Amino acid sequence: MEIYVDEKGEVAGVRWLGLRAGAVRFYGCNYRCPFCPAQRWSYSGSFGGVEFCMDEEGRVEVESTALAERMLAFLREHPEAECLLLTGGEPLPDRQRSEEVVDTILELDRLAEDEVLVVCRTNGHYLGRKGVPECFSRLRELEKLRVVFEIPVVGTTEEEFALLSGIESKYFNCQLASYWQLSPVAGGRVEVMASFGTGHSSGGVHLVHPETRESMFRREHWSRDFEDVYHDTCTKLGLPRMPAYCLSDKDPDAVYRCMALGCVGCRQECEGVRRALEKYGGEMRVESRDEYLEDYREFSELFEPAESCRVEI
Ligand code: SF4
Repeated sequence: MEIYVDEKGEVAGVRWLGLRAGAVRFYGCNYRCPFCPAQRWSYSGSFGGVEFCMDEEGRVEVESTALAERMLAFLREHPEAECLLLTGGEPLPDRQRSEEVVDTILELDRLAEDEVLVVCRTNGHYLGRKGVPECFSRLRELEKLRVVFEIPVVGTTEEEFALLSGIESKYFNCQLASYWQLSPVAGGRVEVMASFGTGHSSGGVHLVHPETRESMFRREHWSRDFEDVYHDTCTKLGLPRMPAYCLSDKDPDAVYRCMALGCVGCRQECEGVRRALEKYGGEMRVESRDEYLEDYREFSELFEPAESCRVEI
């Protein structure tokens, strides 16, 4: 596990709240998102295994009081961090880790002197498949912390999910199921929300289906289950659009990985693609961004991209 302040809000800031976060990064994730901003953490360590959540020396560090104390010490030393963000790698990959995270949150609540906002950003895979462990009901006892479980949904269909998560399409609904599974936990000091895991970026990086070359995320293709979560979370949060995290065109590695899958299409002069080609060389199939103008427009009407990746039309 590593804790650091996200200075620019580009990687780990809680952007839909406009807050700077002390990002608590866990090791290991079962997804292989090509756009993952946290590959250094999420692609290392074995998923659900003992390497998960190590300290700097590689020792397993799971004791909740020690973790909570470390997080509070971090907040004292970094007053610029406005909240704590538990994030990818995946903080809730299995039962054991989920229970440890809940224990840590309860310990934080016990030790904190003032209110602390904790956002737990999970891909929802484990909770959606296996259900929410009993211990989550103890979060109703919170007195000082506010906790938000955020599920950044990857893709709007099974097919998009398989391309963008790197795992089988049949798991698409797990992330959506986790939203409903967690909902009974909400209330009091706990909230549950969904966001959108990735989208188009302002630099012109546009995600297309590698075979059809059609834009991803078009509303006419949304699955019914995605639509239900979309509407519920927007209504609950009082937002006109779902907050979205978009492919960062400042991250040539992420753009290149999407290009390698054939998922990126836009004009050659697009900043993100230019950076990726500069770094890795090679060529890619490009389409005119103008072809996708209507799709960009529709996307920005349905999703609220973070400041740093807002789509300019
Ligand atoms: S789910 Fe999150 S942490 Fe895991 S690979 Fe995807 S973006 Fe990275």
